[in-house]
Amino acid sequence: MSKKNKPPRPEPETLGLPLAGVDSHAHMDLDDFDADREDLLDRARACGVSRIGNVFLGPQAYHKNRHYFDHRPEVFFILGIHPGNADQCTPETVEAMRQAFAADPRLKALGEIGLDYYWDDHPHELQQQVFRTQLALAAELGLPPVIHCRDASDSRNAFDDTIRTLEDAGFSGRKLLWHCFGGDASQARLVLDHGWHVSIPGPVSYGRNSALREAVETIPLERMLIETDCPYLTAEPWRGKRNHPALVGFTAACVAEVKGLASEAVWIATGRNASSFFNLEDS
Ligand SMILES: [Zn+2]
Repeated sequence: MSKKNKPPRPEPETLGLPLAGVDSHAHMDLDDFDADREDLLDRARACGVSRIGNVFLGPQAYHKNRHYFDHRPEVFFILGIHPGNADQCTPETVEAMRQAFAADPRLKALGEIGLDYYWDDHPHELQQQVFRTQLALAAELGLPPVIHCRDASDSRNAFDDTIRTLEDAGFSGRKLLWHCFGGDASQARLVLDHGWHVSIPGPVSYGRNSALREAVETIPLERMLIETDCPYLTAEPWRGKRNHPALVGFTAACVAEVKGLASEAVWIATGRNASSFFNLEDS
């Protein structure tokens, strides 16, 4: 079919979802959104997204960009040093995070932190050390961590190392969110067996990701959140375009199809889970 004759992609407004969903992981402070951040936040609301978790990649980004959301109470904050920036974790930046968390009740979780052996920007030992340092801070603050874990394409070393690091740090059975879950059913089992929550991103809708859809089939709705990770990882039918929070409804629709449920049921349940996980009721 020629490009000209392709049917138009459905807009997220057509999903008709009520104002009850939560995008648990977005990067709306990035300059990808400088031209239309306000419009996209309005649009998310019009598409049923009641809350958005904005993830700041380190204390510098937090201090520089948090003002974007001064008049956006629907946005709550997550802050941590990503493994791709492991070299930025110094005693000074850890202290800056400790002070930010003490001062700002909009900060609800510590993340995204973890291990990334895919981009592999820093030695694994350094990544693990930075991960442990921030897990200790999360424990000290009594806040849940949001985990980033990405494997090199030919192994699951990052996954196994992440599980081991979390067990060693005493996080088995504690509140924790595994962000952007991309594993198979056996990996989902292991995460769930530790008592943790799982956040499902847009790639669950990609044709070749049948292992992830099989995993989603087995994950109880009570343990599931959904996310965009925008501007990245756009769900079908908008794959390849810039991602934004209004598009998270397509991820709910895909999860619903896999589980044989109504989109609205997945939307409301995952929204409620996010609200309780991040303690959003009181803010
Ligand atoms: Zn992210």
